[in-house]
Amino acid sequence: MRLNICHLYPDILNLYGDRGNIITMKRRLEDRGIAVTVDERSIGQPIDIDQYDIFFIGGGQDFEQEVLLRDLAAGKGRDIRAAVEDEKVFLAICGGYQMLGQYYKTWDGEQLDFIGAINVHTIGAKERMIGNYMYRTTPESGDTIVVGFENHSGKTYLGADIAPLGMVLQGFGNNGEDQTEGARYKNVFATYSHGSLLPKNPVLCDLILQTALRRKYDRVEPLAPLDDTLEHAAHDYMQQRLHKT
Ligand code: GLN
Repeated sequence: MRLNICHLYPDILNLYGDRGNIITMKRRLEDRGIAVTVDERSIGQPIDIDQYDIFFIGGGQDFEQEVLLRDLAAGKGRDIRAAVEDEKVFLAICGGYQMLGQYYKTWDGEQLDFIGAINVHTIGAKERMIGNYMYRTTPESGDTIVVGFENHSGKTYLGADIAPLGMVLQGFGNNGEDQTEGARYKNVFATYSHGSLLPKNPVLCDLILQTALRRKYDRVEPLAPLDDTLEHAAHDYMQQRLHKT
């Protein structure tokens, strides 16, 4: 078995160690004897969506998102929409999450038209939503507690056909108003969690990997357990700290 990962815009969208998510996915697959390739695709480099099973997009600031608009309009946006509809697995963080949506209206009134692969939109606010936070994923996304770090001024609102990834237990999440966090559409997992997300949330990581294996190989049996003592210790420490705040 082999999974091919495409890391989109690694040189532009990579805040707060988002790249650690790629390292974690790779490691957790290889530890189970599953082969992995990771390709990086940035501005001017076309993507052959059939070649990949998982796409990863990290976070970036408003300016960096703006820089990418032309590249997205030149073809990548269309390819990403097709990959999402084809049920490829996506993990998108913060700025990358916003970019999968319809548009982003910055706090000073500029509208950036994004990919429109998922029916969400983002409105910039003057106040930033910053801090460690946690949420419980919905039953269809594993019903597990995720700890992360958020830092965004964009408030994201979900369209009627889009489920949240989870519900906020502590912190802001999508917009600080409706308790929702992230988005789940087909095999897209989108979230505001930097930090990076997956090293300290191994249950979510395995859910994402399992989703990709099911899509590609129809493989439904659970992944072999790994020794996650350290991962769980990091997760549980943050969870306890956040419970106290
Ligand atoms: N530019 C976006 C915002 O501030 C995303 C920031 C990020 O990816 N951390 O809302």
